[in-house]
Amino acid sequence: MRLTTRTNLAMRTLMFCAVNGDRIVRKHEIAEACNASENHLAQVVNTLAQRGFIETQRGRSGGLRLARPMDQIGVGEVLRTFEAVLPFVECLDGDNNTCPLCDACRFRDAIEAALEAFYTAMDRHSVGDLVRDNDALEHLLRLPGAPRIGICGAGPRARATLTADLDV
Ligand code: SF4
Repeated sequence: MRLTTRTNLAMRTLMFCAVNGDRIVRKHEIAEACNASENHLAQVVNTLAQRGFIETQRGRSGGLRLARPMDQIGVGEVLRTFEAVLPFVECLDGDNNTCPLCDACRFRDAIEAALEAFYTAMDRHSVGDLVRDNDALEHLLRLPGAPRIGICGAGPRARATLTADLDV
């Protein structure tokens, strides 16, 4: 089993944004830090924006950042979004399925159970879990001028949300 390059780039992009908090980051900065081509990254960024994981800003000073606090971005949700594009086996590919064994296949049942277990395990992790207290990752991805991941490992918007939660 291997995640697609798009899925992997999506996770690298989200970790990059999380490490840099509310700082607007540029695609070329992500591409350089994550060893990705900007073309490949552009497709991934589009999907991340369409699915509400990041927000983009146009213009000369444009770029992107997380659209939600990093603790509210589940790894399982990201993986489901990107992996759904490429079904694990042909019979999970809806109208494109031509396998004649579908109605009697126990292999399919086993695969579906295993996939569900995989995604359930990934649901236990958020992007925040991946970057918080991870000095080595911060060292690799934090841009000049971006603040260290502070209280609760979140940027100002996330901290504001947290503070609001605590006030309730
Ligand atoms: S052999 Fe089974 S698991 Fe494989 S494509 Fe056919 S129905 Fe699906």
